[in-house]
Amino acid sequence: MFSKDLRPHEFTAPGTLYEALEEGDLRCTACAHRCLIHSGRVGICRVRENRAGTLYVPWGYVSSAHADPVEKKPFFHLLPGSQAFTFGMLGCNLHCDFCQNWNISQVVRDAELGDGSQYIQPVGAEELAKLAQRSGARLVVSSYNEPLITSEWALEIFRHAGSLGLQTAMVSNGYATPEVLRLLAPHLTALKIDLKTMQDRQYRSLGGVLQPVLDSIRLAHELGLWVEVVTLVIPGFNDSNQELWDMASYLAALSPDIPWHVTAFHPDYKRHAAAPTELEHLQRAADLGVEAGLHYVYAGNLPGRVGSLEDTHCPHCTARLIRRQGFRVLENRITGKGKCPQCGTTIAGVWKAA
Ligand code: SF4
Repeated sequence: MFSKDLRPHEFTAPGTLYEALEEGDLRCTACAHRCLIHSGRVGICRVRENRAGTLYVPWGYVSSAHADPVEKKPFFHLLPGSQAFTFGMLGCNLHCDFCQNWNISQVVRDAELGDGSQYIQPVGAEELAKLAQRSGARLVVSSYNEPLITSEWALEIFRHAGSLGLQTAMVSNGYATPEVLRLLAPHLTALKIDLKTMQDRQYRSLGGVLQPVLDSIRLAHELGLWVEVVTLVIPGFNDSNQELWDMASYLAALSPDIPWHVTAFHPDYKRHAAAPTELEHLQRAADLGVEAGLHYVYAGNLPGRVGSLEDTHCPHCTARLIRRQGFRVLENRITGKGKCPQCGTTIAGVWKAA
């Protein structure tokens, strides 16, 4: 539904994730930037605007929406083999120069990309949830751009999705606040979080800092969300043995059952000159994850080339439980009660819809 007449700032509604301050100022609490926004101004993400002391947030549109495999998010322990009806909007709170969805995530801050009008598709929350149901999907997922900055809108969709019996998930950079996670948690099944680096200096180069991401992984896990973590392994950026070890150790200390996906980087957006991730890099990262004590480590973005690193194995008896190739589930032997059929060990994850 392309229209040149639609502007992103016209698709807004009063939000809830903010604190009113004196003299019409406000502080947004949807992400860890916690922007202080003066009246008439927008936050760092440029999609949340202070209009006379009220925070207006994106509402009533998507930039894209369609069903695809939940493995593509990637979630490997969340209703494997299911279709996930996934929608995106516009904007991001970070500005990673290797973003693979830069056309929609950076469009509101990169003048060379236009103003985002070309992506606006008006839709209602209930309508979107019904579209998801009609598509045969078992999940509704907020993804493609950074969903935290449009949390109120996602929440509205998730409420409708939940009433139709659908599960819900977000695919996020994890630059969250406790406020947004606590608001979402009652209506959210799962959260995928990017752990991009363990170096604060590197996070700052992307427009954030490290600690809120670590805190969000911990809190999301404590709130009972199903959490999977992804690290795009970028040569020269985050791929030293020490850094990969630090990531895996942090996750393993929270829970060895948190799946860790180490995925291959391909040059994109403004990071054209970097070398792509080689198979050996992913293998080394995965080995470190296992050595650190993680039960479920996966290698992604090189389908069919990473051997058993696309599969799920029982952490106790090592039996292969789910066989995959890329985003396709070729075999799933996990029992209806979420156990290994060979030794009876409980396999962490969400294996059937509530
Ligand atoms: S979502 Fe984050 S970046 Fe956007 S206004 Fe709120 S605190 Fe700032």
